[in-house]
Amino acid sequence: MTDAKRCRQVTVMPDGGFCFGVRGAVDAVDDCPTPAAVLGEIAHNPTVMEDLRARGVRVVYAPEEIRPEETVIIRSHGIAPEVAHRLESRAHRVIDATCPRVRRAQRAARDAAETGWPVVVVGRADHPEVEGVVGHAGPGTEVVSTAAAARALSPKQRRAVVFQTTFDPSLVEGVLQALREVTDRLWVRDTICTVVAHRRETVARMAREVDAVVVVGGANSSNTAALAQVVKEAGTPVYCVEKAMELPLPELERYTRFAVVGGTSTPLESLQEVARRISGC
Ligand code: SF4
Repeated sequence: MTDAKRCRQVTVMPDGGFCFGVRGAVDAVDDCPTPAAVLGEIAHNPTVMEDLRARGVRVVYAPEEIRPEETVIIRSHGIAPEVAHRLESRAHRVIDATCPRVRRAQRAARDAAETGWPVVVVGRADHPEVEGVVGHAGPGTEVVSTAAAARALSPKQRRAVVFQTTFDPSLVEGVLQALREVTDRLWVRDTICTVVAHRRETVARMAREVDAVVVVGGANSSNTAALAQVVKEAGTPVYCVEKAMELPLPELERYTRFAVVGGTSTPLESLQEVARRISGC
């Protein structure tokens, strides 16, 4: 072991690992008898997905892929009612592991639509959670992810606003201001998840206290990308890896103090494994 390795301080983020929504979905899969299938990736994390496949749980991407003998688990992102009906008509059994906070956003969208308010969902239109929330709000629902897109909407007398649970809180005011420019009355439902906001604050704080931050998570996870962005904004070098084996160890030799952080779908074990490899033990 080099002197540099011996002196390294590696801190794993407090409260790291799955959020309670993803934990609930992973536990539902663990407790589910096979044959079973998950509709979409239960967590945007290759380690979690490899474990599931090793246990014989299939990942399918459409209700039509479900076999009649299978139990299907709805992941934490939730789904649209129309997709739920298609699942129920095919699967042996359906276990709904939609996160309670996503369910709250779905309810907010549905209630607003039912009381006659046109709904605008603030989030990424191609994100599965947003697709589900839009499905609950019904036809005519608008989706925007930026202030520019909000400003480009056609003028309306009123709109109900629902947020993707993982929407960046720092962008909220800009989007709302833009929506006010094209809407006489806004009914804003705060559906952003506090877990995500809290994690961003923790990462921003840790980034200011170390020489480099390693973000652990799936390359396809928007959560992981958002945390990397928080680190960049703090001006601290950031490295993104899916697994400990991907760490660029020679490059990390130049740093002494590290923070190891992860999104809500990164298991705590992955963070600890990365921390061990950086420490050299
Ligand atoms: S980030 Fe929040 S809303 Fe999303 S699954 Fe986790 S607890 Fe639920």
